[in-house]
Amino acid sequence: MSSLLRFKMVDAAINHTAVEVTPPKGRPSDYFGAKVFSQAAMRKYLDKQTYEVLSNTMENGTPLTREVADSIAAGMRQWALENGADHYTHWFQPLTGGTAEKHDAFAQPDGFGGVIEEFSGKLLVQQEPDASSFPNGGIRNTFEARGYSAWDPTSPAFIVDSTLCIPTVFIAYTGEALDYKVPLLRSISAVDKAATEVCRYFDRNVSKVHTYLGWEQEYFLVDESLWAVRPDLMLTGRTLMGHESAKNQQLEDHYFGAIPTRVMAFMKELEYECLKLGIPVKTRHNEVAPNQFELAPVYEEANLANDHNQLLMTIMDKTARRHHFRVLLHEKPFKGINGSGKHNNWSLGTDTGVNLMSPGKTASENLQFITFLVNVISSVYKHNGLLKAAIMSATNAHRLGANEAPPAIISTFLGTQVSAVLDKLAAATDDKAIRFDAKDVFKMSGIAHIPTLLRDNTDRNRTSPFAFTGNRFEFRAAGASDNCAEAIITLNTALADELTAFKQRVDEKIERGMKKEKAIYEELKAMIKACQPIRFDGNGYSEEWREEAKRRGLDCETSTPLIFDRYLDERTIGLFDRTGVYSKVELEARTEVKWETYVKKIQIEGRVLGDLTMNHIVPTASNYEAMLLDKVYKMSHIPGLNATSDIALIKRIQDHTAEIVRLTEEMTEARKRANRIEAMREKAIAYHDTVEIFFDEIRHHVDKLEEIVDDRLWPLPKYRELLFLR
Ligand code: ADP
Ligand code: MG
Repeated sequence: MSSLLRFKMVDAAINHTAVEVTPPKGRPSDYFGAKVFSQAAMRKYLDKQTYEVLSNTMENGTPLTREVADSIAAGMRQWALENGADHYTHWFQPLTGGTAEKHDAFAQPDGFGGVIEEFSGKLLVQQEPDASSFPNGGIRNTFEARGYSAWDPTSPAFIVDSTLCIPTVFIAYTGEALDYKVPLLRSISAVDKAATEVCRYFDRNVSKVHTYLGWEQEYFLVDESLWAVRPDLMLTGRTLMGHESAKNQQLEDHYFGAIPTRVMAFMKELEYECLKLGIPVKTRHNEVAPNQFELAPVYEEANLANDHNQLLMTIMDKTARRHHFRVLLHEKPFKGINGSGKHNNWSLGTDTGVNLMSPGKTASENLQFITFLVNVISSVYKHNGLLKAAIMSATNAHRLGANEAPPAIISTFLGTQVSAVLDKLAAATDDKAIRFDAKDVFKMSGIAHIPTLLRDNTDRNRTSPFAFTGNRFEFRAAGASDNCAEAIITLNTALADELTAFKQRVDEKIERGMKKEKAIYEELKAMIKACQPIRFDGNGYSEEWREEAKRRGLDCETSTPLIFDRYLDERTIGLFDRTGVYSKVELEARTEVKWETYVKKIQIEGRVLGDLTMNHIVPTASNYEAMLLDKVYKMSHIPGLNATSDIALIKRIQDHTAEIVRLTEEMTEARKRANRIEAMREKAIAYHDTVEIFFDEIRHHVDKLEEIVDDRLWPLPKYRELLFLR
């Protein structure tokens, strides 16, 4: 790669203007869900009986018979063909991250020299993708070589381009989950069961509790021509080198600023595509860092919301390419400016329409709210290390604790009002003194004329990884590229377990003759006191908090491979076993995959870094050095000229280059040593402790060179080009 190429690409980036987008016909309400086999489509394309059986399955999980599956497949095929589909695929979420699909044509030889469009119930319900190359953490070797994908009727089929996509789970023949959807569904039903029981203390009519998820997706856009000449961005998703731009986000002029025209064209097309797929996109804005943006939909039932997020990430990538952008979902693509997260807004709601994480209007509703709130924070306290493991990855590790994102310590922020209520409850000696009327719970002196909700929203702490935001919890530590399921599975499961134990203790008290309300109060009081250490309303970025958190006994581990150990703690194994979300075998397998993925990511970064330094940076620096040497040599022939500053420059280049070469060689050696380790956990630890430690050091010298080497020679697009051309 040469600097000529860089300039050509900068030129191309400057010349990229907004791509013309054909405006959608009609209003969003006309095309929303047009590419989804929705309830409306089902009613139209299925006979009444089939529709009813399927509805029952979607609501209550009753198994489908072969005949019904055939009828559904026939209707679905009809709908898909009428909507331009010619292929179908099972669409699943393997542990690689992202989604997997294998397209088959509907067209099938009819035996008379022609073709006929075919799609049977068998093809709809179950397939056997050749899945041996998906990560499985050893499950498929130890148990059974085959895996299969099976339709999840709770999330509707949809069409992308001309392919009918059928959301499926992906499991081993022996039943172990090989994906994110299976455990997510299990966790949703675990929390439904446990929460419904507790709700019935307050309202006998509750028969189901839903999990809701509203994600906020942050991302960067980079011009595709520049991206193409940054091997690090292309292969690792982040810049492994690059001196900070003189201007980056310090003026805070990007956040909520006017959206650039080219980006707007991209967003409009993206939103149109999303709406057609039934993704209820709502919010778009510039984020804090230059070229960083956010998209958020209206929250939905968690399984569907998660499918939609997975789908969004794919659609984003495709759409960005049409606009000559590349979308970066890496958690930390650029040094020195904010990285990207994916806030997971999480709540539970009953089938009677009550949000269990929102203060209610009556005393009983508020006691129910406090009950759920306390159970949430108590479960987060008990499993804070595990929750961190759920959102930790080689990529997210760069963002957490980087003074812009939550620290690598999980704590909860409740806001002053809710905190005060809990403290009052814990301290109360006379039960009658506590009355949870809405105005008691959210009384704020002086500004009573401001509606309650507005006040909740202003009471915020951006540094908290897990914040209560008025009617939901916001898990902010999740990374931009994560599958949200990981976080939601852990939250749901921990809460389900907590609620079950809570219910048992309250029931025991009631059996011993205590009144229900009093039993609940007593339990909550004890729990509030016990989980005090997880509550933290201060500045999560501060050094003092790290010290304080350690004193409080919260999980402060920062090494990614060691954080994964939390998945195999006895406590974790017990938790997932009791709730039926993961078996021990599944936990072991998934942790193995996590270590393996970590190793691969760092391995790739190490290789790319080595390639860039030795094949791009060092030769460039040497060229410049040769030019200077030539100059100094010539100068020495002319009396009276002083070459001191040139010589000093040459020496600096020499020093940095020598360090880069030495460190790169050492890193390569360390990598070779790590590669010889068999056990995946130990290998991951070796990569973390002995390989990754070179990255920043090497980068430091490269970035120094970038500062002094002639800009005309520098081969890699610089930060100012990557971040400000759009
Ligand atoms: P902010 O950036 O201020 O945190 P946004 O409006 O960008 O807020 O995103 C908030 C997200 O939270 C949206 O996806 C929204 O639908 C979701 N949300 C709102 N209420 C709930 C709730 N009760 N449960 C789950 N998600 C919710
Ligand atoms: Mg948010």
